[in-house]
Amino acid sequence: MSDAPRSHGRLSIRASATPRDLMAEPQRLSRAWGARVITLFPDAFPGVLGLSLTGRALDQGIWWLETIDLRDFGVGRHRNVDDTPAGGGAGMVLRPDVVAAALDAAADGAGGDWPVIYLSPRGVPFSQAMAQRLAQADGVTLLCGRFEGVDQRVLDARGVLEVSVGDFVLSGGEIAAQALIDATVRLIPRVLGNAESVAEESFSHGLLEHPQYTRPTEWEGHDIPQILLSGHHGQIAAWRQAQAERLTKERRPDLWRAWLAAQGRDPVEGEELSDAHTIAAKGEQKE
Ligand code: SAH
Repeated sequence: MSDAPRSHGRLSIRASATPRDLMAEPQRLSRAWGARVITLFPDAFPGVLGLSLTGRALDQGIWWLETIDLRDFGVGRHRNVDDTPAGGGAGMVLRPDVVAAALDAAADGAGGDWPVIYLSPRGVPFSQAMAQRLAQADGVTLLCGRFEGVDQRVLDARGVLEVSVGDFVLSGGEIAAQALIDATVRLIPRVLGNAESVAEESFSHGLLEHPQYTRPTEWEGHDIPQILLSGHHGQIAAWRQAQAERLTKERRPDLWRAWLAAQGRDPVEGEELSDAHTIAAKGEQKE
């Protein structure tokens, strides 16, 4: 029924430099993490995922990407994929039979631990924890909506998890799918050169990351904080921790309280803040 899915990335095996690589390389490729994306716009992929670190890892076969064109499953001469909303209202809704056929095609060969996700503003919020969970899976199937979204029956019947990338409405699920894939793929070992940068960045320990600086040491009259030039690793680590706590406290009282609680500290400490963000957040929470 459908054309062959389009694959991005290379699944062939490269010549390796050392015997150790010869052992590891085929294994890694055969168990490479995969993303299957059901979309009306396959040309949107790999998009930014084809660039830089994620693009290089895609080329190397560390992960793979396949697009499934929803149009191929459309009905009738015009391959219709949508119809007007039951009950009236603006826009169009993606048909359950069309979406089911695409999901079933995507399920073929997608065994093991393989979540199926519909990108949706109504979904559970995407998070670093979810990216870590998905990176542990064998792969993921992502359904990109368009128009007013997808008929609810097919989401329920196929046990599809709805995931949102934020409290705003995009025109389609493609950008959301790329955000989800990007955040997940960079956690796969060997995608980022430096595993430590993943371990230390924002959200990894429940705090936002400390501010970063680089050369020149003086720029438009602004200096880099002296401590960072001191060479005292212990003091630098302490400064960074204090900055991470300060930023989180100021900008994300929700994360700050959760972090305090995880440390066994009194979440009420978070209430002492006089920062405008905190006051605003408190106001919202009282409603
Ligand atoms: N009428 C829907 C919005 C449809 S937007 C509603 O109010 O809930 C069209 C498509 O864009 C959706 O089907 C979804 O796949 C995608 N989309 C829009 N905003 C999104 C978000 N915040 N996160 C994930 N996907 C989103």
